Amino acid sequence: MRILKLKLHWQILIALVAGLLFGLYLTDYVNYVRWLGEIFLRALRMIIVPLVFVSIINGVGQVGSAGNLGRLGLKTIIYYIATSTIAILTGLFFVNLIKPGVGADIGFNQHVEGLDLETKSFGRTLIEIIPENIFQAFSQSQILSVIFFALLFGFFMTQIRDSYQKTLNNFFEALFSVIMKITMLIIRITPLGVFGIIAGNISDILLEHAGNVRVLLGLGERLGLYMLTVFVSLCFHAFITLPLIQRFIGGINPYKHFKAVSTPLLTAFSTASAMATLPLTMEAVEKNDGVSNKVSSFTLPLGATVNMDGTALYELVVAMFIAQAYGLDLTFGQQAIAVVTALLASIGAAAIPMAGLFMITIILSALGLPLEGIGMIVAVDRILDMFRTATNVWSDTTGAVVIAKTEGESLLVKD
Ligand code: ASP
Repeated sequence: MRILKLKLHWQILIALVAGLLFGLYLTDYVNYVRWLGEIFLRALRMIIVPLVFVSIINGVGQVGSAGNLGRLGLKTIIYYIATSTIAILTGLFFVNLIKPGVGADIGFNQHVEGLDLETKSFGRTLIEIIPENIFQAFSQSQILSVIFFALLFGFFMTQIRDSYQKTLNNFFEALFSVIMKITMLIIRITPLGVFGIIAGNISDILLEHAGNVRVLLGLGERLGLYMLTVFVSLCFHAFITLPLIQRFIGGINPYKHFKAVSTPLLTAFSTASAMATLPLTMEAVEKNDGVSNKVSSFTLPLGATVNMDGTALYELVVAMFIAQAYGLDLTFGQQAIAVVTALLASIGAAAIPMAGLFMITIILSALGLPLEGIGMIVAVDRILDMFRTATNVWSDTTGAVVIAKTEGESLLVKD
């Protein structure tokens, strides 16, 4: 099967076009392929709780094994939260400016009936992050509660007897490897899922707007605008915000630093996995930037799993885009929920291809938006994934040099 040898993003692109053609020309037969998309979405929902739970525990556990959440930990976490939040706000600015989803009117409105965005206040959502029953949170996919419990669990795992710690660390690392394997399997079926989702969506649109080609064109245009929004926001963050932080907080020359880490950046771009890139990132930051091993071995592995500026920004833009496409005006409070959940989702996302896509379900659930909205963006996800992963790694390296600088280290890429 030659097609299996094709790179995943090509497979997805082919599936997208095939789904589009199938939906357009074989509308009557769409029910024979719709299940492919359904299986894919079900698989996504299946893996999300275990993936979030175990990857967060592993991430927090790494802080512990590097000597508890001390000064370094605090600085690192402040940097991660600060830059990811700035990235999210950048996305919020551009998505409100460009409004890629407004006017998409693509016939999804029937799903929105009965959707009550007003029922939960921001305060209530915050209170309900604390689960009354953790098993209920698991079984009902209350992701915020799962994250909350995982953070608590991960933190206190670092506070127990060494022998116990070792047992649990081993256990969760092993569990994580298995869950990753399942996740990779789901990623492999993405082209089929895309095919089913796109074919189904296109035929739904056709049935509802029979003969109205302009609607389809409108959707393509909206999708293009959506990609543009993500792209412009990412560029702003990567080429303006982060270099300013490098220059004024890290005291380094952004251009020299860019050259120093260009290999991991390119690797991140082509693999779309911050985790796969990690060995190269550590080597470049230590050898070319001159950051000590103490700082790089502490900040970078944690950064790869927790610090995802590009992903955080992307999560927010997707949520807003889907809300706009469904014709929903999110209030200030709801946008605030979107910002907080985008941050949590980026922290919870595994550093593997398309993990960000899995996490969209968190924000959509938190905002009460229909998960089917993912169908609109899944087709172009892999391309955006490359850009956001490079941004993630770019921010990880920025964190390492900034923290090294505040620890009094002398860097090779000084201004
Ligand atoms: N692929 C990204 C990463 O590895 C995560 C994501 O899908 O946003 O950093």
